[in-house]
Amino acid sequence: MSKVLVIGCGGVASVAIHKCCQVSDVFTELCIASRTKSKCDALAEKLAPTTKTKITTAQVDADDVDQLIALIKSYQPDLVMNIALPYQDLTIMDACLACGVNYMDTANYEPENTDDPEWRAIYEKRCKEAGFSAYFDYSWQWAYKKKFEDAGLTALLGCGFDPGVTQAYCAYAAKHEFDTIDTIDILDCNGGDHGYAFATNFNPEINLREVSAPGSYMENGRWVEIPAMSIKREYDFDQVGKKDMYLLHHEEIESLGKNFPDVKRIRFFMTFGQSYLDHMRCLEDVGMLSTTPINYNGQEIVPIQFLKALLPDPASLGPRTKGKTNIGCIFTGTKDGQPKTYYIYNVCDHQECYREVGSQAISYTTGVPAMCGALMMLTGQWTKPGVYTVEEFNPDPFLDALDKYGLPRSENRAPALVD
Ligand code: NDP
Repeated sequence: MSKVLVIGCGGVASVAIHKCCQVSDVFTELCIASRTKSKCDALAEKLAPTTKTKITTAQVDADDVDQLIALIKSYQPDLVMNIALPYQDLTIMDACLACGVNYMDTANYEPENTDDPEWRAIYEKRCKEAGFSAYFDYSWQWAYKKKFEDAGLTALLGCGFDPGVTQAYCAYAAKHEFDTIDTIDILDCNGGDHGYAFATNFNPEINLREVSAPGSYMENGRWVEIPAMSIKREYDFDQVGKKDMYLLHHEEIESLGKNFPDVKRIRFFMTFGQSYLDHMRCLEDVGMLSTTPINYNGQEIVPIQFLKALLPDPASLGPRTKGKTNIGCIFTGTKDGQPKTYYIYNVCDHQECYREVGSQAISYTTGVPAMCGALMMLTGQWTKPGVYTVEEFNPDPFLDALDKYGLPRSENRAPALVD
């Protein structure tokens, strides 16, 4: 019996809400609140006849802490699920602290305006000290640890697939499969085809920022940064086939490096087709990925936001996307004194997701773990005061829930390794 406030009603939130409504005995009441209330109303109307969960909706600007506090005070939820954008992480955490409510999200904080001088000064210091230059990092949210501890509240960060399930796979491997882990390679393959020359599978602004940033990985506790897309490998993915993949910076490397300090190397690879990369390079070269506003005919325009308006809405890709995703982790290490390798992953079919919840697999593979993370918190299995990432909790009930609610694991004890 619980009351949950979901903030955001985009591609990922819509899947998470569909799945919460399949577990009505835990998610007894949901309030869907977002900037555009009509989207919340449309989803609530669609789901109401199919679920026992009592759904209400609200309008909120999650950049405004006072609006958030007013909403949380009036609804009195047990948990706030932040499935808006990473830009809102800190305001929503502030509001949760002010109201004494648990918090979770699916992506770590990054600022909307990366030219803000105050933010930039801290960012540039971090680049020098930490050795990676992605705009997003955990330091902003980890800084809330003491406040959440003192308030007796739990904040769960980054509970999508990657970050999210990938860290649960790491915790599972450390708990059950290895005595020591030497290397972790996280492989994110999207073998889906939506038929467009260029589109992004989740919020274009967030996606293009991530992909156009320099790559980096962790080796012996230190970051190694490389030019964007400069390390390429081919891998033969189960149920998808051979794909080119590129080393990217990704947020879970940072928390895994902190929580598994003895692992010698942690890397993240994502597959991209040539058409995607060619379009992205061209858009970047002409300045369309810039977040710096320009003045056009007397109107201020942020290039990447204008581009977002031109690109297909990720939520519209569902009916067109065919093929499968395959996301997981390959480990090397030792067990009982013997060298060992292990691969744990999930394969998800875009069209099956669309049949079930009306979304493609990228939203599905993020929304289902968000619901399962909330389920862990609401059922008391993942609660400890403070601010935590997924690998800091018991992976077993979470992976069992993923098996049950649509993202079953597969395992391979003799996988091909990535050189
Ligand atoms: P969408 O752009 O589809 O949805 C974002 C939602 O947030 C929209 O409903 C939007 O409202 C709402 N929103 C934006 N700004 C505000 C605001 N100021 N106040 C209230 N609501 C707001 O994004 P996605 O669903 O694709 O992504 C959601 C999150 O999931 C992102 O943080 C993304 O980084 C993360 N993600 C995580 C992954 C993982 O594996 N961990 C993978 C993929 C995504 P409106 O409709 O008005 O625009």
